[in-house]
Amino acid sequence: MAQSSIEWTEMTWNPTTGCNKISAGCKFCYAEVMSRRLRAMGIEKYKDGFKLRLHEDALTIPGTWKSTKIVFVNSMSDLFHNDLPLNFIKKVFHTMNENPQHTFQVLTKRADVLLKHHRELHWTHNIWMGVSVEDSRVTDRIDLLTKTDARVKFLSCEPLIGPLPQLNLSKIDWVIVGGESGRKPRPMDVDWVLDIQQQCENSKVPFFFKQWGGTNKKKTGRELNGKTFNEMPLVVP
Ligand code: SF4
Repeated sequence: MAQSSIEWTEMTWNPTTGCNKISAGCKFCYAEVMSRRLRAMGIEKYKDGFKLRLHEDALTIPGTWKSTKIVFVNSMSDLFHNDLPLNFIKKVFHTMNENPQHTFQVLTKRADVLLKHHRELHWTHNIWMGVSVEDSRVTDRIDLLTKTDARVKFLSCEPLIGPLPQLNLSKIDWVIVGGESGRKPRPMDVDWVLDIQQQCENSKVPFFFKQWGGTNKKKTGRELNGKTFNEMPLVVP
């Protein structure tokens, strides 16, 4: 478990680590860079760098937290990676089911695997399930997500690298938008962001604007038309 600087969560919890790239949104994967850095620092959990690894010993960690947390699950991996055994995904879900005091935010780019397994998993109200949608080439992930039994469904449009007109938000509870940061970030057009914000407003879907990104994300900040958008989903247990 680690405190997180990600604006829409509080903590990260990584029962698996490692992944591999599957779409344009992965180009400058933060998890890959961090995994290499942590391996170089001699951190045991990352001794295999960015190779997919399961961490059975991490499964009990959420039960040890003294206060209620909002937790980003697998910030360093993808819980629905094709090579992850369903049995282990079930164990991660069991931990989330057994800890209803915490909110767990799971985010995947592998919506097909999510849909394949969703009936085998127990979807308690404290599990928010999201898919990454970086541009219009991957909006099919939204359709796959909406077919699952997840009680709270969200989109993470980050890094937003193209316009997303006519999003299907009919079964979506939350949308996050963010620009890419780092040394060579791909630009995010203000009109793309305004369009998504307007679509959310029209559909009454909470909208969270995370950051503009760029080479100095502190400088570019997270205001959109002079406003900060920190809306969160309304969850009825
Ligand atoms: S799916 Fe996520 S963790 Fe995996 S390579 Fe892509 S950005 Fe990185």
